[in-house]
Amino acid sequence: MVLANLNDVLPKAKKDGYAVGAFNYADLNTARGIVKAAETEKAPVVLQIAESHFPYLPLDIGGKIALDLAKQSSVPVVVHLDHGTDIKTCMIALQMGFKSVMIDQSLKPLDENIAATKKVVEVAHMLGATVEGEVGVMTTDVGKGKADYSNLSDNYTTVEDAKRFYEETGVDAVAISYGTVHGIYREKLSLNFERLYEISEALPIPLVVHGGSGLSDEEYHKSISNGISKVNYYSTMSYNVTNGLRNYLNEQKDKQTFLFNADLKIMELVQKDISEKIRIFGSNNRV
Ligand SMILES: [Zn+2]
Repeated sequence: MVLANLNDVLPKAKKDGYAVGAFNYADLNTARGIVKAAETEKAPVVLQIAESHFPYLPLDIGGKIALDLAKQSSVPVVVHLDHGTDIKTCMIALQMGFKSVMIDQSLKPLDENIAATKKVVEVAHMLGATVEGEVGVMTTDVGKGKADYSNLSDNYTTVEDAKRFYEETGVDAVAISYGTVHGIYREKLSLNFERLYEISEALPIPLVVHGGSGLSDEEYHKSISNGISKVNYYSTMSYNVTNGLRNYLNEQKDKQTFLFNADLKIMELVQKDISEKIRIFGSNNRV
């Protein structure tokens, strides 16, 4: 299939009230498992590589894996750069043939975030690619930087900032903060659906939730009905798959196991986990 961009899949999701899953892959096995799930569920999908994962899967190798799988796929696959931290990384991805990138300068002052995002949008649009930006601060619970759960509400994206960000950059989709946290949550979060709804009413473009791993099915549904069209999901899948692989290898310990047995098991576990999420997001049977 021809490579898709965000505009090929998200506006339709926004209109019809479902969300497209955006799943990070860590290697060939996870990428294949994600695409297999999307094909089986007849769902559009975003297959994304995170800049923070480049030490484990460099962009030049990882990008090619996703681009090849997307071209062979029977469903629309958006190959997307997740959390590109600077303009240069976004340009490299676009040059490789990515039809979608995220530029995330949300930790910088809004003016700087807008200026950088605008530059990426100008180039991406000339190449027929789309751009996701981020406004507001998403905290992270991964690695050493532990999120402070007590002041999450200070970081909720405001309607004014989101509006200004959209109007001045021309981005195609925007990630906003209404209370989620990257990684596996350590405690229950309180989500501000009202703010999410206000932003979705004020902006004509699709909204994105990051840190979607710890949400309950009900919270996913509520997020989607209040304006989310793209759900980023990775940490729980990663956790479920490594646990599943551990159990499988324990069961096999008296038998001879080859590397491809582990590869196939990873693919099967990823496919199962992603298929479940696709159905929760309501993007199954949409292509
Ligand atoms: Zn994210």
